[in-house]
Amino acid sequence: MTTPNHKIRLVMELRRAGVVDTRILSAMERTPREVFCPPQFLDRAYEDTALPIAHGQTLSQPTVVGLMTQAIDPGPRHKVLEVGTGSGYQGAVLSLLCRRLYTIERHRPLLQDAEQRFRDLRLANVVTRHGDGWKGWPEQAPFDRIIVTAAPGDVPGALVDQLAEGGILVVPVGREKRSQSLVRVRKTASGTETEELAAVRFVPMLTGVPTYATDDVVPDGSQRNRA
Ligand code: SAH
Repeated sequence: MTTPNHKIRLVMELRRAGVVDTRILSAMERTPREVFCPPQFLDRAYEDTALPIAHGQTLSQPTVVGLMTQAIDPGPRHKVLEVGTGSGYQGAVLSLLCRRLYTIERHRPLLQDAEQRFRDLRLANVVTRHGDGWKGWPEQAPFDRIIVTAAPGDVPGALVDQLAEGGILVVPVGREKRSQSLVRVRKTASGTETEELAAVRFVPMLTGVPTYATDDVVPDGSQRNRA
């Protein structure tokens, strides 16, 4: 089977951006980004750009997904937590590189769409949860790797607590979109080591779970998708 041109171009862009890990390049080549794309942006599925999805959220930019994935250095035995499932694209890439992916999303309709995509792609090692990622997933802790795809003002303490010793957490930190940096936290026997990796732009990490009192009102006046 030959690889289509748009995928070859994407892999070249990933390499140029500094994604050199061949396992990650291969996982991204095998993940069909068009599946995660809103229909009106299908022709842009392989552009290196973030795309809008429902509820004011975004499908992350491929080079950012590549660099964040590389930053957590996932391995085939790792239990990984993702906060901010969104479209499911970052999660799908990760699921090909780890033992099991646990992913949390606060918007139920986004999560339901992502769950359908995980089923369609037969990604059987993905476990999902509707909820507030600030709390992490204590029942499944500790995690070898944690990736956050929305930006909190500070590194969430509960997530550091749920990191295994030797574990790595990657999170875009900063309330202002213009001044966020990607932070990597490593947990060691004696504490944590934190480093700043790059400037990034993510949607904010919000608190709690929305109830759709205003944005999902159906014509008869009742509400659907109530969380
Ligand atoms: N990884 C996604 C990126 C989605 S954008 C992708 O590849 O498409 C970030 C997502 O984080 C949004 O869907 C947003 O609803 C979610 N989010 C923001 N704050 C959250 C929180 N506290 N808990 C869980 N999800 C959260």
